[in-house]
Amino acid sequence: MSSELEELYQEVILDHSRRPRNFGELPDAAVRVHGDNPACGDEIHLAVKFREDGGLEEIKFTGHGCAISQASASMMTMKLKGKSRAEALEMARVFHDLVTGGPTEPAYLLGDLRLMRGVRKFPQRVKCATLAWHALEQALRQSAGESTITTEAP
Ligand code: ZN
Repeated sequence: MSSELEELYQEVILDHSRRPRNFGELPDAAVRVHGDNPACGDEIHLAVKFREDGGLEEIKFTGHGCAISQASASMMTMKLKGKSRAEALEMARVFHDLVTGGPTEPAYLLGDLRLMRGVRKFPQRVKCATLAWHALEQALRQSAGESTITTEAP
């Protein structure tokens, strides 16, 4: 394994992929978004329950796929639980920049998610890392109901 790959698959990421946090069903979810990354075979089923003020009361996921996709979803749910809608959207934007090499640098917002920075060296893995976040953004857009997103253009 190259040192770049070692960096990418750091222990924390592997740990999250093996023992994903907030993994499971959320029976009273307001929104369910099914995310699909056919380029890698990753699937994320994200379920969100909102507070009365629109913040994220509870967020859980199920799914399967590569270590990066599952670890990103696991770390995302940990980071977002209890956050306001605006905070969640800001984190999604910062995370996207983190893994694509974009301009935003308040990466401290992301905590352990900063470990995902290594993904930017592997363009084909960016879709794996951002799948859960695309599902989150869709969940925030619709606020109720069920939908499906994909990393591939229709
Ligand atoms: Zn993947």
